[in-house]
Amino acid sequence: MEDCIFCKIVKGEAPANKVWEDDEVLAFWDIRPSAPVHILIIPKKHLENVSAASNEDQALLGKIQLIAVEVAKKLNITDGFKVFTLNGSKAGQVVFHLHYHLQGGWKEKND
Ligand code: 5GP
Ligand code: ZN
Repeated sequence: MEDCIFCKIVKGEAPANKVWEDDEVLAFWDIRPSAPVHILIIPKKHLENVSAASNEDQALLGKIQLIAVEVAKKLNITDGFKVFTLNGSKAGQVVFHLHYHLQGGWKEKND
């Protein structure tokens, strides 16, 4: 996807502060964090959002959750973190390349 900012990050054509990478998945700091720790975890494969995933993506989607736990350990936020994705503009999705937000690092309970 030529105009997709996250595809550009995957290809190294745009900068990102990476915290995890393998052949299928990339995780990097959100450019405008809304939590003390705010990471985006994306499949390298371009999918618009989770609605665009199909059965062949089942393992990839599961793997992303396990990577979220690994990244949470790496960044010392295992005492409390959120993993979520926004699906569609009505839900607030702005970047149409599937991404999971990993947030944590709060000092107090965060609702
Ligand atoms: P959405 O609302 O689509 O779930 O969230 C998109 C997220 O991507 C936002 O939290 C926004 O700050 C982040 N973001 C948008 N463009 C970039 C970028 O170029 N680099 C990084 N690291 N994050 C971005
Ligand atoms: Zn993309």
